[in-house]
This record gives sequence, C-alpha cells and structure tokens, in this order.
Amino acid sequence: MAKKGLRSTAQRRLIVDTFFEGASHMTIEDLLTEVRVRDKGIGYATVYRTLKLLAECGVASERRFGDGLSRYELADDAKSHHDHLICVACGTIVEFEEPKIEALQDEIASRYGFHVTSHKHEMYGTCGDCQKKVS
Ligand SMILES: [Zn+2]
Ligand SMILES: [Zn+2]
Repeated sequence: MAKKGLRSTAQRRLIVDTFFEGASHMTIEDLLTEVRVRDKGIGYATVYRTLKLLAECGVASERRFGDGLSRYELADDAKSHHDHLICVACGTIVEFEEPKIEALQDEIASRYGFHVTSHKHEMYGTCGDCQKKVS
C-alpha cells in the first residue's frame, strides 16, 4: 500500500480500520457515518479516496447491486470468495458460498475454453421478511 502512496495519516488509518472492522457492503456514506463517530473532522472526499485506493490495491472490492450505489467489501483475497442474494425491497444483502455452483461455473467456463479469473453471481428478489409484509 505504501507503494501506491497511501499516506498513513491518522484519518486514513481510522478509515481503513473502520472498514476492516465494520459491516460488509458499506457505501461511502455508511463508512463516513461510522468514522465520524470517532473523528468528526473526516470528510466525504477522504473516505472516497481511501476506499478507491483500497480497491486499487486489491484489498477492497467495489460492488454495485442495482441501486446505483457503490458498496465496498473485503476482496476475495482477504476473505473467502462468496456470492450474493440481494433483496430489491429492503436492500438486505445475504452472502453465500456454494461449492456446487463454483464447480459448475468452472465446468461451464472450460466448456467454452475460458480461464476464469473472477466472477460475480448475484440473485435479485425479495427476502423472507419482505415476502411476509406483502402477503
Ligand atoms: Zn427484504
Ligand atoms: Zn459480500
């Protein structure tokens, strides 16, 4: 990270620590709210730039789940690979790991002569709680 010129100022360190300790799939606003609990002086731009740097370094992954917001989580290198179920009604994001899906994806890729370096598997719908609210 030092190579990428990430200045280890106290503010940046706090942002990085909060990102690692915090919930997965945080937006810039979510992380800003969290860091401001500990340091009111931190601005949106600093959080934005720090997250972008983490993403460039491969520490964080940026995800977009159809609501127009960028969400950040630890990259697969830092955390095991997982896929997502997204509730379009309340925004709940569930992570899952399914070896059968992973194996099947590899099988499909090799069928087409692809060497897969990464993939995203996202399923959109309504979660159990939201289904109960409608009925
Ligand atoms: Zn829901
Ligand atoms: Zn995730």
